[in-house]
Amino acid sequence: MSPLTAIAIKRIRRARLLDRDGLFRIDISAGRIAAIEAEPEAEAPVAPSGEEIDGGGMVVTGCLVDPHLHLDLAYSQDLVGPNESGTLREAIGLWSIAKATISAEDTRRRAEKAIRAEVGFGTGLIRSHVDVASNAGLRLTEGVLAAREATRALCEIDLVAFPQDGLTRDPGALENCGAAIDAGVDRMGGIPHVEATREDGLRHLDAVFDLAMKKDVGIDVHIDETDDPNSRYTEALAAKTIERGYQGRVTASHVCALASYDEAGAQRVMDLIAEARISVVTNPGVNLHLQGRYDRYPKRRGLTRIVDLLARGVRCAAGQDCIRDPFYPFGNGAMLDQAWLLAHAEHMSRPGQIRQAFGMVCEMAAAVVGREHGVEVGKSARLVVHGAGNIQELVRLRPTPRGVLFDGIMTAGASIGGRG
Ligand SMILES: [Zn+2]
Repeated sequence: MSPLTAIAIKRIRRARLLDRDGLFRIDISAGRIAAIEAEPEAEAPVAPSGEEIDGGGMVVTGCLVDPHLHLDLAYSQDLVGPNESGTLREAIGLWSIAKATISAEDTRRRAEKAIRAEVGFGTGLIRSHVDVASNAGLRLTEGVLAAREATRALCEIDLVAFPQDGLTRDPGALENCGAAIDAGVDRMGGIPHVEATREDGLRHLDAVFDLAMKKDVGIDVHIDETDDPNSRYTEALAAKTIERGYQGRVTASHVCALASYDEAGAQRVMDLIAEARISVVTNPGVNLHLQGRYDRYPKRRGLTRIVDLLARGVRCAAGQDCIRDPFYPFGNGAMLDQAWLLAHAEHMSRPGQIRQAFGMVCEMAAAVVGREHGVEVGKSARLVVHGAGNIQELVRLRPTPRGVLFDGIMTAGASIGGRG
């Protein structure tokens, strides 16, 4: 944090709020939103002051949220070498070799760089998976926990213990999951579709629930991350969620295969997801990039059925997933880019749908991560002063934020008191 950005902000003037008409003044006290009052449209520009931000009629929202990231993988592409086929399978193989020797300190450095990059684009809450495969041990966990500690004043990080190479195929990973949770990781992850057989994948899901329930933590599993219509773990996840009484505590990440099911099967599975109150996270950039790799033409887009899930009231969010690693050579941590990509890939072009796409990297994503969020009196002042005056321009232009606040403290942006 530069001295310029470590300032406690007391007020944002001339702010525009989504879903409300007019301009507003937002008062901040002790890191929380203390008051929101209407201001006249003709209000003059605010005089420079170290504690006030002039919103200038631009949109102010709750901080952006990345509900699915791999901080331990970030910027690891140079450590690993190129993914020649571009497939998920080759990426998992490359990473599996590399992580056997990557140190905790190297992981901390790369993870911290990724957190700071995301904060610069307005992110204040990240859920990250952390690889606890047996050949990684807890080194990557240690590095990511240290990065979380070092950036506590900038961003909240929710962590998931992730057995990237499976639980049956990689004996030892389950014990590491338990140890990672004991060390401070917040929830249990999984990836049933990497197991050798369908039966092993189902056993994998049972082991995920057993450990999560023993530790009393939520679940976020990578699931059906493939175009293969025979990959049917999401329905098993939903059925087990209901059977175990875990409704509302489970997130299904990726769920790509759902887009390849026939219509009757897909409708049935989506009803089950809604009944189990499972949240769904799509990763637009990475899903577009990694899926469809075995198609000639036409090539599938790889994203799950977000529009249909939203219509059922399923909580959905969009994640960055990867930043310059063996899975994805792109990625910069700008969550507005993910909203923009999602809107394209899922045909979310009507005004209400553009608003939904934004919500999937903002308040709905926060709900998926289990956090209260928004520009409301009493809530934490984790806010972004954007560089656009309405939702369509915000998603179209994806401007760098004028100001990013974490609990009332300016953490990024240059627009303090009209100086920016
Ligand atoms: Zn992932």
